[in-house]
Amino acid sequence: MTTAAVTTVPFRFFALHVVRTARLGPSLVRVSFAGDDLVAFLSDGCDQSLSLFIPHPGQNAPVVPVELGDGWWQAWRGLPDDVRAVMRSYTLRALRADEHGRTTEIDIDFVLHGVEPGAAAPAGPASLWASRAGAGDRVLLLGPAIADNRAIRFRPPTGTDLVVIWADETAVPAASAILESLPAGTRARVWLEAGHAGDIQDLTTAADAEITWLVRGAGAGTPTALEAVRAAQLPSAERPYAWIAGESSVVKELRRHLVRERGIDRRAVTFVGYWRRGLSEEQLREQEA
Ligand SMILES: Cc1cc2nc3c(=O)[nH]c(=O)nc-3n(C[C@H](O)[C@H](O)[C@H](O)COP(=O)(O)OP(=O)(O)OC[C@H]3O[C@@H](n4cnc5c(N)ncnc54)[C@H](O)[C@@H]3O)c2cc1C
Repeated sequence: MTTAAVTTVPFRFFALHVVRTARLGPSLVRVSFAGDDLVAFLSDGCDQSLSLFIPHPGQNAPVVPVELGDGWWQAWRGLPDDVRAVMRSYTLRALRADEHGRTTEIDIDFVLHGVEPGAAAPAGPASLWASRAGAGDRVLLLGPAIADNRAIRFRPPTGTDLVVIWADETAVPAASAILESLPAGTRARVWLEAGHAGDIQDLTTAADAEITWLVRGAGAGTPTALEAVRAAQLPSAERPYAWIAGESSVVKELRRHLVRERGIDRRAVTFVGYWRRGLSEEQLREQEA
């Protein structure tokens, strides 16, 4: 008789390498990763967030003292800036498993910002890394070893009768995975914002979802996120649940609108700032600490 090993540690490191990349649009690249460690990777999906560690240019692997166990964080923080691996938050877009249910590959969709010639603001290290990623490139991932874990934030309360979603391009991977998970019959009103029309993705859902793509700066008269959501007539619902993620200041405005103007119970609004204009992820984390 075999007994399944029960994992009690919710998150662990996974040593992974790139197996392929696919350009999904002018500012979107999908990177697929594999590695023997993935057999221990378990996730219920939705907006499963991950911490990705990437090497600096010139390094062939990210430097994180994982051998120190729980002491890795202090030791990693203590390394010189140009040695310590860059840590960034990303979302599990998809996972593939073998016939025994063991994860074999995972996908992450990266927004490429600042990498085009003449860009107004320079690329961050993760965007730059993704734009150049190729088969064999090594990364470390701090990810889930338990399928239902606290890095999944999409949690509609029991009895939810309408799901409202807003996501900018950084949160479209999460919103896409959420939509794929919604059961048939779930009513959903969804706004997805893209930087370019060419980044718009085909989405799959069994839900009864009305999905609107907004292309930022698509010309005079393009509504802002707040204008688009404010102008919409939401289906009547007793227990709406909202999930909003993207640029922090936009997320804040939308949350305020949903709670104050639409009267959605603040406990039924999940909101996550995925990035803030003008701040790197380290700077954002320091401000929030
Ligand atoms: C839980 C969570 C999940 C996330 N999932 C994803 C995901 O699946 N895919 C994804 O692409 N991103 C995702 N993000 C956002 C991503 O972590 C940030 O965009 C991150 O700042 C990118 O790191 P970087 O090194 O490229 O830029 P940084 O070094 O962090 O920032 C450099 C500069 O670029 C600006 N910047 C950062 N992101 C953008 C952007 N998208 N557009 C324009 N300017 C930007 C910053 O404001 C800063 O001025 C997620 C964030 C969180 C918190």
